Amino acid sequence: MIKLENVRKRFGKNEVLKGIDLHIEKGEVVVIIGPSGSGKSTVLRCMNYLEEPTSGTVIVDNMDLSDKDKLNTVRTEVGMVFQRFNLFPHMTVLENLTLAQEKVRKTAKAEAQERGRKLLDRVGLAEKAEAYPQSLSGGQQQRVAIARALAMTPKVMLFDEPTSALDPEMVHEVLDVMKSLAQDGMTMVVVTHEMGFAKEVGTRVLFIDEGQILEEGTPTEVFDHPKNERLQLFLSKIL
Ligand code: ADP
Ligand code: MG
Repeated sequence: MIKLENVRKRFGKNEVLKGIDLHIEKGEVVVIIGPSGSGKSTVLRCMNYLEEPTSGTVIVDNMDLSDKDKLNTVRTEVGMVFQRFNLFPHMTVLENLTLAQEKVRKTAKAEAQERGRKLLDRVGLAEKAEAYPQSLSGGQQQRVAIARALAMTPKVMLFDEPTSALDPEMVHEVLDVMKSLAQDGMTMVVVTHEMGFAKEVGTRVLFIDEGQILEEGTPTEVFDHPKNERLQLFLSKIL
C-alpha cells in the first residue's frame, strides 16, 4: 500500500530524513516512535507529499507521488489527522464532514450528509452534527477530525500524534476510535507515544532517530527486547 525507497529530505543544510526505506502492506498498523525532532512528522508528510522528498521514491497504492497527475488522486486516498484538530471553526460539525465530499468528490449534498451522519455515529458523536467545533471538547473535536478524514473513503490513514494535545481523560476515546478502525482493516501509520495502543493495535513498530529507522519489529520485540542503544535510552525516558 505504501512504499518508500531511499527517501531523503533536506531543509536548507539540515538533512532531516537520511534514506528511509519502508514497505507497508494493506491492513498493517505501523506505529512510529522516536525523539522530538527525529523526522517522524516529516516521514508521514512525505507519504502524501505535504512534503516533497529531496530524493527517493514514494509509492502509494501503486501510484508514484512524483507524478503530478496522480497526486490529487492519491491525496484523496490518504487521510491525515494532526495533533491539532484543524476543524473549520465557522462550519458545523456536519458541514466539516461534507465540504470535501462535495467539493473534491463531487458527491451530492444529501448523500454527503448521509455519509457524514453515519461517520459521526461511528465515532460516537451522532448528536453533535449541528454543533460548532469550539463547543466540543478536544477529544470530541479529534473524533470529528477522524470522521472528516474518513468521509473521503481513504485507503490509508496517517495519524501524527493524535492524542498529544488532549487532556489525559480524553485520550482513550480517540484511541478507541482508532482501534476500531484498525479492527476494520484500515491501513494506518501512527506517530504516537501511547505504548498501550502500540502494543495492543500495532502490527509493527518503527524507531526513528536523526532521520533514520534504527530499529523495527513487533511491539514485543521493540518495547520488551530493544536492541539499539538509542532505542533503549529513549524507552527508559518515556516508559
Ligand atoms: P518530529 O515529528 O520527529 O518531532 P519533524 O519531522 O517535525 O520531527 O522535524 C524534523 C526536523 O526537521 C526538525 O529539526 C525540524 O526542525 C525540521 N523541520 C521540519 N519541518 C521543517 C520545515 N518546514 N522547515 C525547516 N525545518 C523543518
Ligand atoms: Mg512531529
